[in-house]
Amino acid sequence: MAFPLFNKAKSPVIQRIHSDDATRLRLKYDTYYHIFDKQEGTRVWKDGKEFIMLSSNDYLGLAQHPKIKEAGSEAIKKWGSSTTGARLANGGRSFHRELEEELAAFVGKEACHVFSAGYLACASSVTGFADRKDILFADKNLHSSLWSGIKLSGARCERFSHNHPGHLKELLEYEDEKTPKIFIFEGVYSMEGHIAKLPEFIKLAEEYNAFVVLDDAHGFGVLGEQGRGTADHFNLTNEVDVICASFSKSLAGSGGFVAATQDAIDYMRSHSKQAIFSAAISPSACASAQAALRIMQDEPEHQKRLVKNLERYRKILSDLKLDIWESETPAIPIVLGEKEKVYYFWKALQEKGIYTIISIAPGVPPGKDLIRTAISASHTDEDLDRIEEAMHYACSKI
Ligand code: PMP
Repeated sequence: MAFPLFNKAKSPVIQRIHSDDATRLRLKYDTYYHIFDKQEGTRVWKDGKEFIMLSSNDYLGLAQHPKIKEAGSEAIKKWGSSTTGARLANGGRSFHRELEEELAAFVGKEACHVFSAGYLACASSVTGFADRKDILFADKNLHSSLWSGIKLSGARCERFSHNHPGHLKELLEYEDEKTPKIFIFEGVYSMEGHIAKLPEFIKLAEEYNAFVVLDDAHGFGVLGEQGRGTADHFNLTNEVDVICASFSKSLAGSGGFVAATQDAIDYMRSHSKQAIFSAAISPSACASAQAALRIMQDEPEHQKRLVKNLERYRKILSDLKLDIWESETPAIPIVLGEKEKVYYFWKALQEKGIYTIISIAPGVPPGKDLIRTAISASHTDEDLDRIEEAMHYACSKI
């Protein structure tokens, strides 16, 4: 038997892996990365126990829609599993272009580029446009994909208080008016459910000649006419330069897009590493997203049901005097403020067969430790009865 010359375990990286507190605590409390054996509608099963899913982002409840399943499997039959390469290298396919044209028309932009993940699309909405010499202004509570884009861009970034146009204005007053400026917002903030104060931000963008990037992962499908998103909701589509979003929420798929003018999309295709060096979105993911987009326009009943469910769910939480951080949308946090409380609340919901997710500092601001929930059009009245009963039980446990 051959003995290794060096003791690998002495590598500082391996030592770091073995002594990491975040991983040790995660494994001890077993809060994340659960595996379910089966899924039907809003129900998932783990080790034989049934749960109602209350933390996925399937806002319109389309994940099991027969037209989407069929579109995905037909696309695999016709095109195979993947185009196995970046579009710059071995080309896009007509299904990419079709979806891009439909998405662009839907959100009210000239052009669009689709990516294999929302994370790549949203990172690209910054890296595809920002130059090192620009200054970026970012809401403190942006999603990680945008922070990745901001870091990769190499540009200076100033953070403003969450959804606070007054603070952004203060920061702008210190800057040279000639420095190119980019504002970065979310339409609906994923953790808090807050809608961006877009009209006030757009006024500042006009005053300071800033380029505006809007991540509408959680507004798309939920706000605006037929779910066209937050910019449409405020009638400000032309004032927002770039709209990016994910397919993994209302479209119940995987992938993402960036929509803008044709010139801007052409520019992004030359400058975004995520567009240039990452493989094209797969045929089945593209076809499923396209089917979902058409359903959003042809079947308004999903949006209506979402509004009805949201009303009932908000009432359940407000009757229990739970703090939902002024969420205005189907992404609803239950703020409990201390990680111990959050943990016992989450456990109690699990005991009653309701599956949610914990988010604690530093993932959320200190004192805002929370359970993140999201209501879906596919939750039935019976699901809501069970959720109500479980919320009462969880409140009695903290
Ligand atoms: N932006 C926001 C605001 C998100 O919430 C997410 C997903 N959580 C993403 C981007 C990334 O999307 P995806 O999960 O499709 O990669």
